[in-house]
Amino acid sequence: MSQWGHDFRPDYLELQVLHERWPGVPRIALTATATQATREEIAIRLKLAGAKMFVSSFDRPNIAYRIVGKSEPKRQMLSFLRTEHPGDAGIVYCLTRDSTERIAEFLTDNGIPALPYHAGLDTATRAEHQARFVREDGLVMVATIAFGMGIDKPDVRFVAHLDLPRSVEGYYQETGRAGRDGQPATAWLAYGLADVVQQRRLIDGSDGDLAHRRRLQTHLDAMLALCETTECRRTVLLAYFSERGLSCSNCDTCLSPPQVWDGTVAAQKLLSTIVRLDRERDQRFGAGQVIDILLGRKTERVSAYQHHELKTFGIGAELSEANGAASSASSWREGCWPCGASTRRWRSPTRARTCCAASSRSCSAATCPCRSRRVPGVVPAPEPHVARRPGRPGRPGPRGSRPPT
Ligand SMILES: [Zn+2]
Repeated sequence: MSQWGHDFRPDYLELQVLHERWPGVPRIALTATATQATREEIAIRLKLAGAKMFVSSFDRPNIAYRIVGKSEPKRQMLSFLRTEHPGDAGIVYCLTRDSTERIAEFLTDNGIPALPYHAGLDTATRAEHQARFVREDGLVMVATIAFGMGIDKPDVRFVAHLDLPRSVEGYYQETGRAGRDGQPATAWLAYGLADVVQQRRLIDGSDGDLAHRRRLQTHLDAMLALCETTECRRTVLLAYFSERGLSCSNCDTCLSPPQVWDGTVAAQKLLSTIVRLDRERDQRFGAGQVIDILLGRKTERVSAYQHHELKTFGIGAELSEANGAASSASSWREGCWPCGASTRRWRSPTRARTCCAASSRSCSAATCPCRSRRVPGVVPAPEPHVARRPGRPGRPGPRGSRPPT
């Protein structure tokens, strides 16, 4: 109701008529995964505000959470399966039907038995694939989110995501299908900039109203915050559902704490380049071109657009490409921690985990003050355009870009 009701099934939002028509009939609302805000919305929509609420712990200590940067996703996943889960049953989630087919074929070609599952398959094929997955050992199901609900297979040893989930709720629900027998299992996710661009396009194309699209954006921001965190992933995940947890010593950030650096100056250089491109040239480019400008690389494309004449050309020569990419990513992934709301304000990566309004880590998804009030004295900086309205590959963005002169 909370998710689909706002998008393509608005009738869900009118379910309170059931109570109005049959006031004496007892009602119960059940959720698999819901934040405090979602629970409150459901209670209000269904006119259950005075009802008792029972919430169990979201902690799944036997699941090891791992999130990696996406470079060669198929190869990365193959390596993960071969080294850590040879012969194990698991689920690989993809965003599109087409990619489930391709990945299943790729795994089968590489000696790992796999089947696709998506809503585009006919009913008989879906039923057969699902039955085989439940019955057979060591079978990998490559699926869209259409797969999983109602599947009771206790020995799923891994859940892998090749595309960024739309929300932390979705991610938690999907990874929760691993290790239901209580034995060790892995939740593995590869994500990259292209995922974010893709998700934003989906949000822009959503049928819901502006408030709904903002809600989707908030969900995506929170998911990115989970991907980008340097804290224990389990703690982050639990905090999202308003539950406290201790470092788990079982996730990737606990086992291999990432190195952090103060990227304030690097980000200022990056933002300066983006603003100059916009104001002086009326152009918007992807992260790759901006990094080339910062690093002073006179590539063919830089020359074609005369970007070597920008004042910021080469001002980040001391940075590596990874630093540039990290600055680029962190600057626009910036959001309130832990509620994930976008602050539109630059903060260095080392401080990116503080709450935008509370300036402490005391806020939660439900109570975060940044959602209800502006922070006195904070002037929001413009968000880099590369993330918000990216251009198509090989050309600058859509807003009045000039051809090379
Ligand atoms: Zn941890």
